[in-house]
Amino acid sequence: MEDSVLKRVFDIEVFEHTAQKVTKELIKHLRATLQEEHEKTLSWNTPDKELNYWKDFLETGNQETFFKEIFKRTTHTHHPKYVGHQVSAPAPITVLTAMISAVLNNGMAVYEMGMSPSAIEKVVTDSICKKIGYASGYAGLLTSGGTLANLTALLSARRAKVAHDIWNEGYAQPLGVMVCEQAHYCIDRAAKIMGLGENGIIKIASKADFSMDTAQLEQAYEEAISSGIKIFAIVGSAPSTPTGAYDNLNAIAEFAKAKDLWFHVDGAHGGAAIYSNKYRYLLRGIEQSDSVVIDGHKMMLMPTITTALLFKNKQHAKHTFSQTADYLLDTVEEEDWINSGKKTFECTKTMMCMHWYVLLKFYGDQLFDEFVTRQYDLAKTFEEIIIKDNDFELATSPMSNILCFRYCPSGLDDNEINRQNAHIRQMLLEDGEFYMVQTKLRNRLYLRTSLMNPFTTKTHLQQLLKKIKTASATINQ
Ligand SMILES: *Cc1c(COP(=O)(O)O)cnc(C)c1O
Repeated sequence: MEDSVLKRVFDIEVFEHTAQKVTKELIKHLRATLQEEHEKTLSWNTPDKELNYWKDFLETGNQETFFKEIFKRTTHTHHPKYVGHQVSAPAPITVLTAMISAVLNNGMAVYEMGMSPSAIEKVVTDSICKKIGYASGYAGLLTSGGTLANLTALLSARRAKVAHDIWNEGYAQPLGVMVCEQAHYCIDRAAKIMGLGENGIIKIASKADFSMDTAQLEQAYEEAISSGIKIFAIVGSAPSTPTGAYDNLNAIAEFAKAKDLWFHVDGAHGGAAIYSNKYRYLLRGIEQSDSVVIDGHKMMLMPTITTALLFKNKQHAKHTFSQTADYLLDTVEEEDWINSGKKTFECTKTMMCMHWYVLLKFYGDQLFDEFVTRQYDLAKTFEEIIIKDNDFELATSPMSNILCFRYCPSGLDDNEINRQNAHIRQMLLEDGEFYMVQTKLRNRLYLRTSLMNPFTTKTHLQQLLKKIKTASATINQ
C-alpha cells in the first residue's frame, strides 16, 4: 500500500500544499490580468508547436510547472484588451462554486444525488422565468450550453406542436423550423440532428441591420407549406451572433400566434438584457415566447458552461424526453422540479446552478443590470469613435455589445479591403496585446469585437484602432 498511486492521489496533506500553491498562482493571474500587468491577452503559438509542447511535456515536463504553463498558454478573458469571442470574464466568486461542484460531484440526475442543487436550480430558473415576464405555470432547467439548450427547446416544440408521436414512431411527414439566416449555426445543427434535412430549415433573409426581415415570413411560410412541409416552430435571435442584431420578437410572436407555431427565443448571448433597465426594450415580446435560452457563461459573468432553458408552460419542460405520449394524463405525478435528468439531455451534469444562485444572493439582479448596460453603452461609444474616423467603417450600428467594423482606407476595392483586414486580424492575433476576431458578412470581411470584459474602456478601444492602423501600415510597405 505504501507506494499505491491511489493513496498518493487522496493524500490530503499533499493536496493542501498543491491547492495553496495553485490558488496563489490563480489569484496572481487574476490580479495581473485585471490590472493589465500582463501586456498580452494571449501569447500566440501555432497549433503544431503547441501540440508538440504538450506531447513533450507529458514525457519530460516538470510537473511543478504545469499550472503555470496553462496560465501562460491560454487566452485571458479577464484582460481588458480581450474583445474577442463571447465568453465572460467569470466573477471570481464563481470560481469557488465551480470548485465546489467538482469536489462534491453531485450528478443531479436524481434528487438524492444533489438535494441542494436540485432545489437551487428551481429557485434560479423560476426567478429568470419571472424576469422574462412569464405568468405563473412556468418552469426551467439548466443544461450544458446554448447549443444543447436550443436543441432541447426544439425537441420540446416538436412534441408540443406535432400531433404524430415522432418520439416513438418516427416521422410521418416532413417538418420545418423558421429562422433568420443570421442565426447561430447551432439552430441549423439542431434541425439536422432532428432529421429535418436541409429543406426543414426555412431561412428568412435579414434586413440591412442584419435582423430578421419579418416582412418575408408570410411568403416563406406559404412556400414551405405548399411543398408539403409542416412548420412547427420559429426561432428569434436575441441577438444573432455575427453582428449582435436583435430580431423583432414582437413581430415574430404575432406571426407564431397566427400560425400556431412554437416561438423560441435564442437569447444565449443577449437574453441577459432582460436585467438591463435601459436595454430591456430590445427583448420586447420575449414574454410571449414558449421557450427562451440564456447562457450564464456569456453575458452573466459565469464560468463555462451553464445555460438556462426556460419554458412558459411547465408541462413543456418535462415532456421533451418522456417516453410515453400520454405524459399530460399522468395522475400520480411526482413533484415536477425534482429528478432533473428527466428533463435534460444530460444524465449527469455539473452543479452549475450554484453560479447563478451565488451571484443572485451576493449581488442581486443589479449586477446583471449594471454589467449588460455598461457593455452595451460601451459599444455605442465605440461606434461614435469609428464613425468619426474615415479609415474605418461599421458593418451596422451595434444593438448589443457586439460590434463589427473594417479598416477601409480610400482607394481600395472590396477584395483588397478583405485581404487587408484578414492580414490585420492575423497580425493582431500573433501580436497578442488585443484579442479580437473576424467574421464574413455579405462577402465582406469584418473585424469583430465582443465587449465582454467589464474593465474595457474607451481608451482601450482607441488604442485598438491605433494598433490596427499601425499594423496596416506594415502590410503596405
Ligand atoms: C453562443 C451562442 C449559441 C451557442 O451557445 P453555446 O453555449 O456556445 O453552446 C447559440 N446561440 C447564440 C445566439 C449564441 O450567441
